[in-house]
Amino acid sequence: MPHNSVKHSTRLDVIPLKTAEKHPNSQRRFHVMSKPGGSKCNLDCQYCFYLHKDELLHQPKQPMMDDTTLEAFIKSYIESQDGHEIVFSWQGGEPTLLGLDYFKKIVQLQNKYRPSGVKIENDLQTNGILLNDEWCQFLKDNGFLVGLSIDGPKELHDKYRVTRSGKPTFNLVMAAAKRLQEHHVPFNSLVVVNRHNAKHPLDVYRFLTKELGATYIQFTPCVEAKDFTTTAPQFWNETMIPNKGSELAKPGHPMSIVTDWSVDPDDWGNFLNTVFVEWVNNDLGRVLVNLFETAVAQVMGKESQLCVTAEFCGKGLAMEHNGDVFSCDHYVYPEYKLGNIHDRGLNEFAFSIRQHGFGMAKRDSLPSYCKSCPHLKLCWGECPKNRLINTPNGEPGLNYLCSGIRAFFDESLPMLTGLSVLLQRQENTQK
Ligand code: SF4
Ligand code: SF4
Repeated sequence: MPHNSVKHSTRLDVIPLKTAEKHPNSQRRFHVMSKPGGSKCNLDCQYCFYLHKDELLHQPKQPMMDDTTLEAFIKSYIESQDGHEIVFSWQGGEPTLLGLDYFKKIVQLQNKYRPSGVKIENDLQTNGILLNDEWCQFLKDNGFLVGLSIDGPKELHDKYRVTRSGKPTFNLVMAAAKRLQEHHVPFNSLVVVNRHNAKHPLDVYRFLTKELGATYIQFTPCVEAKDFTTTAPQFWNETMIPNKGSELAKPGHPMSIVTDWSVDPDDWGNFLNTVFVEWVNNDLGRVLVNLFETAVAQVMGKESQLCVTAEFCGKGLAMEHNGDVFSCDHYVYPEYKLGNIHDRGLNEFAFSIRQHGFGMAKRDSLPSYCKSCPHLKLCWGECPKNRLINTPNGEPGLNYLCSGIRAFFDESLPMLTGLSVLLQRQENTQK
């Protein structure tokens, strides 16, 4: 492959940070994932994509968003949204390390700036370790939606999700889940599908639905380029990029482009297919699975509910504890820093030409292999941070998970189509 044929789909360094023209029909809405405690965490999950940010971004030992930055963020975020509902998302690292009083302060500030008639909601993504009764009561009283990280039954969960001294965490997470349920706090189960648990799809799914009692499940494939701690997506070494089908495009090979714990793309396809059949047969309408819900909606011709299977990116910014704003939670690298909240309002970042370019690149940088794929409108090349490989012909920019995604849609499309027809009928009779 000639050197100059390599595309850098979302490199932003030459695009000015200038406010884009507002399209008359565009809804000026965006979302920010904020990390008020930086990357600090009380666990040491081997596959975590965020722990290393302390070194990459030169974070202090105990990062914490100070009061001025917190208030500037809450004010700016509320002012820049034009809907009747505003959703704040709190992530890390582990945000509960900041303490309950910090979150009480957050709610006070939200109430201070909330315009009348506008509803404010909060999501908290947590490993659950610190959730005691007081925390659960607060979350219940203030209507927080919790995302609880859990990777399956004990032996699968404990493979990578361990404490800083390497101890298992399954029992602690189960205690947190029980406490949340006792306090009637709704929670989503956030499952990272990695190289290990991907080989046990039914064990994972049946544990979640039958033992944990999960009714909302988010599956996220674990895909990490080997140099992810230091190298931003699309800045990879071009000479090392393998073609689809190569052993280097799978985990486990000494020269593989991904970490050992990244999911094998074929296992990802098998995981989705196996869980999908189980879900259709037993839990349709009772358990929500993020990837299946959006696939059905997309087959119906609706917009994707998830950024990964949407045509464009760019509507989900990330903000670090010091007010630095980045293009996306998965692009928290200096190359993708848009600026700092103390210098500009959040809407100036969200609607800048630079962020617009980032978002459009998801579609515009697709290789021809994707453009001619029968599943393009269900996949859209998945997340650009996973576009780690070349097509079989050597064209860059193909998603590492492609073989698994294709296998899933090849097999599930007839059923997805059937479900979409049923749902359409249901919607028509309700009109
Ligand atoms: S880069 Fe990936 S995670 Fe970020 S908005 Fe795009 S699809 Fe979503
Ligand atoms: S399934 Fe593969 S070829 Fe098809 S759009 Fe997705 S990544 Fe591209």
